[in-house]
Amino acid sequence: MKRTFTLATLSFASFFASANAPTPKNIIYMIGDGMGPAYTSAYRYYQDDPNTAVVESTVFDSMLTGMAHTYPDDDTIVTDSAAGATALATATKSYNGAIAVDGEKQKLKTMLEIAKEKGMTTALVASSQINHATPASFAAHNEARGNYDDIANDYIDNKINGKLPVDLMLGGGTQYFIREDRNLVNEFIAAGYQYSDSLAQLEQIEQVPAIGLYAAKGLPFALDSDPERLTKMTRKALSLLEQNEKPFFVMIEGSQIDWCGHANDIACAMAEMHDFAEAIKIAKDFIAKHPDTLLVVTADHSTGGLTIGAQGQYKWQADVVKGVQATAEVIAERLMASDNMQEQWQSNSGLAYTKEREVLLTQAKQVDEEALVLAVKKLINEASFTGWTTSGHTAIDVQVFAHGMGHEQFIGSQNNVDIATKLISFINKQ
Ligand code: MG
Ligand code: ZN
Repeated sequence: MKRTFTLATLSFASFFASANAPTPKNIIYMIGDGMGPAYTSAYRYYQDDPNTAVVESTVFDSMLTGMAHTYPDDDTIVTDSAAGATALATATKSYNGAIAVDGEKQKLKTMLEIAKEKGMTTALVASSQINHATPASFAAHNEARGNYDDIANDYIDNKINGKLPVDLMLGGGTQYFIREDRNLVNEFIAAGYQYSDSLAQLEQIEQVPAIGLYAAKGLPFALDSDPERLTKMTRKALSLLEQNEKPFFVMIEGSQIDWCGHANDIACAMAEMHDFAEAIKIAKDFIAKHPDTLLVVTADHSTGGLTIGAQGQYKWQADVVKGVQATAEVIAERLMASDNMQEQWQSNSGLAYTKEREVLLTQAKQVDEEALVLAVKKLINEASFTGWTTSGHTAIDVQVFAHGMGHEQFIGSQNNVDIATKLISFINKQ
């Protein structure tokens, strides 16, 4: 199922429209990893104020423009995040696992690289390690997403007109940047970058270029740590880019929506959605001050086959989800360590310690912690009527949201590569 994508695959109308559209000075591209339509719907009910008759709309509702197909260029239909990000960053579909390389493993130029060539300031922000598949596909090239050290090396070695590719990086990944064989952080510092290693001291970053690494790998889950860590990094990134005054391209990823989806952990997923939604609000606020900026938000694919409503019942209990205080992994850890299961269960899950639940949890605890994690998730999914079909990804279309200058280019049913083609055409006009 090899497909070739050229300008000819764009409709005449959309090509014409993009040729005449005003060119935004700045581009903010936000990717919710794994954020299929069920996630934005669930988030609407999750953040609803139960004291009002209406269901309040979300920031996603305020800027929905269309849908995008996500299939990769292999025979799988179901994309991974590497092929998904490669399509969204380069306008070329590739195989699962590819980091900005094509089916022949040849490098594909990314929109961030083109932006850098054009003299724009470039930035990547993620709640995963900053060299994870999604951000990596904007600034590195590798035949396999798992080559984390090589990908991190590219953030120094992949020079664009003699310069480092990314001016500002905020995320996790210290273990890949400070290694025995190479200390990339020292190389960044030697190249004039400010280095920040504590999210609590985020405000101490004074200007670009800069790199902030806030965890060995990904940052801790929002539900188990700072619920607005991505929001804070987004606010800081946009304020540094604003102060810099040059046109910029930034990709901001809500990385861990996907990880909660893989875990089939609904409370984890909604906490990540909240952090991502608040980060999008920061970007919208930026556009209110700088109307010459374009914001595009989409997802690379959906994860977990999330379903709002399950077990043949016509209901979904957002209040149950809101009552959960930690990820299932952390709840299980606490249950393992405690001799008061009832108290731990009630305070962490917000659910009653019924006889049935006691039996399930106690039996699972006797097996091992892994069994206990599964039992915790089963009880929370059942109580909230949340369904999941897989621990992997699904191939349903994802939503496209756009706001600001040029947002009308993203209306309708499109292919994920079309989003990149339009953004690249804006960047090329700088
Ligand atoms: Mg990702
Ligand atoms: Zn995934």
